[in-house]
Amino acid sequence: MTYQQIWQRLTPLYEAGEARAITRLVLERFFNMSMTDIVIGKVSELSSEEENELEKNIQRIEKGEPVQYVLGSADFYGRTFHVEPGVLIPRPETAELLDYIPKVNQKQTILDIGTGSGCIAITASLEHTQAEVSAWDISPKALQIAKDNAQRLNATVDFHLQDALNAPDHQSCWDVILSNPPYIMDKERQNMEKNVLDYEPELALFVPDQDPLKFYTAIARYSVRALKPKGILLFEINPLCADAMLRMLQQEGLQQNELIQDQFGKYRFTKSIKE
Ligand code: GLN
Repeated sequence: MTYQQIWQRLTPLYEAGEARAITRLVLERFFNMSMTDIVIGKVSELSSEEENELEKNIQRIEKGEPVQYVLGSADFYGRTFHVEPGVLIPRPETAELLDYIPKVNQKQTILDIGTGSGCIAITASLEHTQAEVSAWDISPKALQIAKDNAQRLNATVDFHLQDALNAPDHQSCWDVILSNPPYIMDKERQNMEKNVLDYEPELALFVPDQDPLKFYTAIARYSVRALKPKGILLFEINPLCADAMLRMLQQEGLQQNELIQDQFGKYRFTKSIKE
């Protein structure tokens, strides 16, 4: 197979530039090939075993499986995380949430609720070296993947199997709580891409019981108890629920509630402070 042949096979699915980028990633991550290797034609020198592996992976992409699952990795905040079916693929918008953690020169305690691949918690721990970071998830599989990611990236995170809807009775222990809980409503299904619906975990995407605020309200209640005074609650939110989210945060007694836009101009985050 040649480099050309691979990206041409991906062009019905992806626009040409993207198909080339994916081809490069596949060759780099599976066969450790550099751009120079590609230019000098190393792709056509693959052994028949390697060709078979390549063929299998191209077919998975052709069938619509997200490239990150096929590669087994996704980039987030400048680092590569292992991902596989069972955890959400980290999204570029989510990385922006990390920038709202205060940059302080002292120890701060940070909790990530619903950590999935661990991308938020691990990045927080590596970017804020004095922080003590904990993370919860309800899925044992996600927790295992998150722990492996922490180990691989040399991050120290305290992981717990914990349901956000049944949070423990903690008092004043966190400086920052962050969460990107499931927030997609059933009525949004028809606008979603097939590869997301077919491959990414329902548990990580969709709100339970048709209640878009269910996780958010539970986490806000927990935060009112468990944040230290002046502690910060940061959410990634569904832009369609922005107004309802602000009302809920106010009702739960959080202060200075703010909607924040993402890089695409959508209200994607909230920031609140505990009195
Ligand atoms: N915290 C993880 C992420 O942002 C997982 C979120 C989720 O599964 N809803 O990617």
